[in-house]
Amino acid sequence: MKVVLQNLTKKFPNRNKKAPDVIAVNNFNFEIPDGKLIGLLGPSGCGKSTTLHLLSGLQKPTGGRIFFGEDDVTDLPAEHRGVGLVFQNYALYPHLTVRQNICFPLENLKGAAKLTKAQMHKKALEAAKLVQIDGLMDRKPSELSGGQQQRVAIARALVKMPRVLLLDEPLSNLDARLRLQTREELRRIQKETGITTVFVTHDQEEAMSISDMIVVMKDGVIQQIGKPQEVYDNPVNLFVAKFLGNPPINVFAGQVKDGKLYIGEDAVMDVKESMDREVYVGIRPEGFILKENGVLGCGLNGVEVMGRDISVVSTHEACEAAAIRAIISAENKVDFDAKTVRFDLKPDKVFLFSKDTEERIYVKTE
Ligand code: ADP
Ligand code: MG
Repeated sequence: MKVVLQNLTKKFPNRNKKAPDVIAVNNFNFEIPDGKLIGLLGPSGCGKSTTLHLLSGLQKPTGGRIFFGEDDVTDLPAEHRGVGLVFQNYALYPHLTVRQNICFPLENLKGAAKLTKAQMHKKALEAAKLVQIDGLMDRKPSELSGGQQQRVAIARALVKMPRVLLLDEPLSNLDARLRLQTREELRRIQKETGITTVFVTHDQEEAMSISDMIVVMKDGVIQQIGKPQEVYDNPVNLFVAKFLGNPPINVFAGQVKDGKLYIGEDAVMDVKESMDREVYVGIRPEGFILKENGVLGCGLNGVEVMGRDISVVSTHEACEAAAIRAIISAENKVDFDAKTVRFDLKPDKVFLFSKDTEERIYVKTE
């Protein structure tokens, strides 16, 4: 089921009446292709949950339309939209068994859709098998681990085979290992069922790893939409560049002068066709090449061993952060006792941003 958001806007009146309205979702326009998994990504308060609530019908938009396929569902109540919802806090009924919890959305079906107990149990078992909890059907939620509880919540959302699956930070309450495992499983289930899915998270790695497409948001405004790798490789502004990537991008104060890009005193790169100005220079951790007479000189702090790679930790007075992290192959030999270290830079890992607007400056580098 294709989902289309058209000029979708949600304003909340500010508690302080004199202050302007909070625009939680500001004129969203995008299309989620049928059967894809979209990651809504951004810091806390950027409007992710509000967007999901609008899609689910739990909240009414202030403006704009929502389409499921060709149907305009903007005025359709939540229970008629055919959406499955999963929240961070599972929200299971504590006094019901796993089977009863999963069956719950099927209980109120009316008319021709009404199911017998046996039919409901069969559907519940199928959904439980998808998330591999079919051995726990008679337990109560209190007798389950957090991961198992979240699987019950996912099975409950799937039992009606929703047209659209909406997941609001569904993995946040799980420990790191379980989070990894469950996100891979979610992806498998999503692919198996082909249900169009919107996955909300503030965790960039999580969104990048399972999404067909990510929507990066800030303060209710969409910053960039694209395939995870494309957005990572081509951020449109400093916010997006900083939000994606771990370790994060290294940001320096720089200057474009006479066809060269300067960081401090070092001319680090030739840049074509650009006016002289001050810029932010973002360099991805994998954009550094350790080299004795390299273009950028930094103070050496130390080396963090990561196994296959090492992280060279260094300093530079033009760098925004206290430490620069350069990820290089462990085959490189770093002189631990040296006070300084020099790098060459990979041009496609270096991005320039306007000092004023923080928008990307597209220049030819070489
Ligand atoms: P996220 O899920 O990305 O953390 P939310 O969608 O929950 O963000 O919130 C977006 C913005 O809208 C925040 O500034 C939040 O304070 C505000 N907001 C959310 N719900 C309400 C509400 N019911 N009333 C007033 N303001 C709200
Ligand atoms: Mg939220």
